[in-house]
Amino acid sequence: MHIDPNPLRAGIGAALTTLALSAPFAAAQFYGDPPDETHPWAVHDGNRPQPPRVEPGAKPGGAPSDATVLFDGSAESFAANWVHENDKRKADWTVADGNLISAKGGGYIKSKGEFGDCQLHVEWAAPSKVEGSSQGRGNSGIFLGGGATEVQVLDNFDNPTYADGFAGSVYGVMPPEANPLHGPGEWQTYDIIFRRPIVKDGELVDPGSQTVIINGVVVQADTPLEGGGGHKGRSNPLRMFPEKGSIKIQDHGNPVRFRNIWIRELRPRPIDGGTDGQLSPEATAAKRAEIAAEIREDAETKSGKDKMLRLMESLVYAHDDAAQAEAEALGEAWYDAVAAAPDGKKGEVMQVNNALKYMVKHKRLPADHEGVLAVAELIKAQGWDQ
Ligand code: MG
Repeated sequence: MHIDPNPLRAGIGAALTTLALSAPFAAAQFYGDPPDETHPWAVHDGNRPQPPRVEPGAKPGGAPSDATVLFDGSAESFAANWVHENDKRKADWTVADGNLISAKGGGYIKSKGEFGDCQLHVEWAAPSKVEGSSQGRGNSGIFLGGGATEVQVLDNFDNPTYADGFAGSVYGVMPPEANPLHGPGEWQTYDIIFRRPIVKDGELVDPGSQTVIINGVVVQADTPLEGGGGHKGRSNPLRMFPEKGSIKIQDHGNPVRFRNIWIRELRPRPIDGGTDGQLSPEATAAKRAEIAAEIREDAETKSGKDKMLRLMESLVYAHDDAAQAEAEALGEAWYDAVAAAPDGKKGEVMQVNNALKYMVKHKRLPADHEGVLAVAELIKAQGWDQ
């Protein structure tokens, strides 16, 4: 079989997807649309890595296996993971009965670890003895981005306040969609998904966002950060957040309790160097070159037709003269052998034909290509098309 080099050479946006028998999900062979200018992977691409296994928490709200546990109820985990921010504080936060308790005059505590985009789980309880009103009742707060933005903690069970300072608000920016709080003294769960704003060359390329779920109810869904917010003032939307920053918890003078705090970092967005999803043309070309190199490396572990298919597959992602020449030579040898003795070869001939049809469908090979016609003719002569 001879493969006309020109359509393949033209096809950096190319064709022959997922032929590899060694691909982790081989059922995807010649299946979905090929990579293009902004997608480094084919649809249903068998070369795409499997998601890593994460053991979920044993109970709802429990820390999954890849989480960093920031507070597990012990004084040791508090000491290991947190520091008081204020050296001139008048009191220390305490750990009692498995709870971390904020201390009036203790100031903020901040995590020793620094985190970028993340999923944060926190459980908290306002004092069961109701005191104060509005912002003075059970006030604390979860600060992300090194302290640049606050998800408000407040006893709003039966306590009106300004809406953009409500429990679950992005403080000063956006009220929560609802008030799903339990009563004072009861435990509340916060699950927060934080994505920092990204500013490049003085331009806001992504405003960042927070998603907040209180007691299983979504109250913020990808809320833009508008620079992070704060007390009384609007933030500069171009405010720079650190790439990674501490998590902080606020002392607002009320003895709010905390437990079961854990955090997971999220994969980077394409705008932030991530390579999953839709990418810029430049990032797509770089990722495709990387995938092609990996497939060619894998091809070296194979021989004959399987090596040919794997090499051809690599050309889907990025062109390479040597890989193409070797695939063509292997293809010719394969065709000569099966054409001379086709008995028992139906499976592999149909496999190669499927690949060729895919290439033609995606305009990587002309329909009258010599190899395409030869394989089709062989199938017809053997009656395998019936
Ligand atoms: Mg607060």
